[in-house]
Amino acid sequence: MSPEESSDADAASKPMTADESLSALEAAIAQLDEGVILTDATGRITLVNDAAVRLHGVAALGVPPEEYSDTYHLLTVDGAPYPSEELPLARAVLRGETVINERWKIRRPDGSEILAVGTARPVLGANGRQLGAVLTLRDETAHEAALVAEREAEGRLAESERQFHTLADAIPTLAWTADADGYIDWYNRQWYEYTGSSPAEMEGWGWTALHDPAVLPEVLERWQASIRSGAPFEMTFPLRGADGRYCRFLTRVTPVRDADDRVIRWFGTNTDVEAERLARDAALSSALRTERLQALTAALGAARSLDEIAHVVVAEGRAATGAETGMLALRVPDTNEVTMIRTEGFPEDVAQLYERFPLTMIGPSAECIRTGVPLWVSSREALSERYPNLDAVWDQCGAQALSSIPLIVDGTVVGSMTYMYTTPQIQSEGDRSFFLAIGRQAAQAVERARLFAAEREARASAEAANKSKSDFLAAMSHEFRTPLNAIVGYAQLMEIGVHGDVTHAQLHALERIQRSSEHLLSLINDVLNFAKLEAGRVEYDISVLRLTDAVATVAPMVEPQLAAKGLVYEVDIAPELVVKADGEKLQQIILNLLSNAIKFTEKGGRITVNSAHRDGTGANFVFLRVTDSGIGIPRDRQEAVFDPFIQVHRNLTRTTEGTGLGLAISRDLARGMGGELRVRSKEGHGSTFTVALQRVL
Ligand code: ADP
Repeated sequence: MSPEESSDADAASKPMTADESLSALEAAIAQLDEGVILTDATGRITLVNDAAVRLHGVAALGVPPEEYSDTYHLLTVDGAPYPSEELPLARAVLRGETVINERWKIRRPDGSEILAVGTARPVLGANGRQLGAVLTLRDETAHEAALVAEREAEGRLAESERQFHTLADAIPTLAWTADADGYIDWYNRQWYEYTGSSPAEMEGWGWTALHDPAVLPEVLERWQASIRSGAPFEMTFPLRGADGRYCRFLTRVTPVRDADDRVIRWFGTNTDVEAERLARDAALSSALRTERLQALTAALGAARSLDEIAHVVVAEGRAATGAETGMLALRVPDTNEVTMIRTEGFPEDVAQLYERFPLTMIGPSAECIRTGVPLWVSSREALSERYPNLDAVWDQCGAQALSSIPLIVDGTVVGSMTYMYTTPQIQSEGDRSFFLAIGRQAAQAVERARLFAAEREARASAEAANKSKSDFLAAMSHEFRTPLNAIVGYAQLMEIGVHGDVTHAQLHALERIQRSSEHLLSLINDVLNFAKLEAGRVEYDISVLRLTDAVATVAPMVEPQLAAKGLVYEVDIAPELVVKADGEKLQQIILNLLSNAIKFTEKGGRITVNSAHRDGTGANFVFLRVTDSGIGIPRDRQEAVFDPFIQVHRNLTRTTEGTGLGLAISRDLARGMGGELRVRSKEGHGSTFTVALQRVL
């Protein structure tokens, strides 16, 4: 150690004198960053350091308390004037109070303002006597501004946090936030709704309880890897819902970084991909349903009987809707009863029990028919509540849900179809409209089947009635003929004198008996023929014959009448024409047509019989025409003449013979031989009846 150094050290270690100490203190005070103002016991200002001068803009040495407020312009923080006696320094020196960290504003002489915070306290001597007061103060303006800015920033942050939470609560996905370490501090409402958990259970790592234990380790591993690396996280895994079932969620977690790119938070969402899959399934099933509905429509179109329809409706309806059981019940017309047309999937005894039941029964099928309103019962509780009387049935069938759809035709409920499920069912809008569509189809099909059955029944009974009428006519005609033959026979015997001589008058009477009898006989024959035709009992003996021969055979039978009326009779038939026909029946037709022609043609008229045919392919028919120049048939009656018992010229024929059966029989015979009979006529000018016959080439 050098002597100088040692003397310096000696000087430093030497105690200061009181003066030295005081001036050191004064120097220290002068250099303080804080403002310091000192007073004597009367309050007169004895010391103002530089900082205090800077703060106030004035040095006020020697100023007494009553002049403080003239020198220093102090305002409260709110900008109100500070009462002089309340100035901190005055309170400390005059009232001995200690004022700690009071805030006020200082308005400087140059008009600028600063915010100051200061402490004033009395200065007490060793004996406790008050020597004066001291005020220390510092400029708080910058600090305050920083504080305000911070408070505002905090407010904004809280606001944005609030907005974020509101937004996150509004989205349909589950969402949450975690701190940088992955500690979850907030979940949105959907999270709590879906999981049914409480915030206390969920805080931090509570979410792990909602994971499938088999998947959880992988989730944790990947999540922790993300937390370590700060990389986004994405994974799809199941989460347990409040109902205990797991649904798959696509989970994405994004890091939120600060200005220095450090991860400060994590923002996570869980999107229910199950719902998306279900929606896809629903879309798929709606396409399938359309297909099924089309298949059902086709199947129903082909179904004729109620049984067939019920089969289609119940089986298809079940298959299309996944129902365990199905049934179709119809209201028995004009009664208050319902009958089960078909059941499927029911235990035998249950099905038997409800084969037929009153419309008033408390049960879905009957109710649906009564009200005409579809029923959608989605749970077992609802079933029991609605139909407690059928609890045993619900138990036996394991029913958990049920749909019943009314079958409505023209506003009338004709029945219902009911499907039952062994799992609870919430029928969506799509399910419902599908059921209603099946219901509409079924209702129409049922109506069709009923009409069809009614028509078949009516036809059968009409046919039966017709047949018995024909049978009756045939029997009657036959019974008439026997006695008539006897009448004719005995009359002839009398006529030829077997029973002795007959007078001229008697002879005349016998002739009339015979003529009338023969007429009657021909009428009866007509009726008999017709009855036989109607009863389908006519047999045809078809052979190949020449057309000219058939016409030639008939001619002699009508010659007397032709002659009697002086009618011109012409025949012009191609001799080579050969037809396939029953000879006798063809003659009967020609005879009938010629007789009519003669009957309805005035004296001096003309009757022509000719033929027409075509050559070449398709020339399968020969047309035999009987034309007269008679009275003709009105246009609107030309088809009616072929109906049995129709006589167009009744007034005329009243006197003439006839039954109105001849043309009906002739047409039936022509058709029976594979041909046809038609008429063309002009009233007042004549008629042409044409027989079409099968030609032999
Ligand atoms: P009918 O001759 O026994 O009365 P048809 O069935 O043979 O019965 O004839 C039915 C009706 O058709 C006749 O009553 C007549 O009014 C009309 N008719 C038939 N042939 C002719 C014809 N050639 N000209 C005018 N009317 C005819």
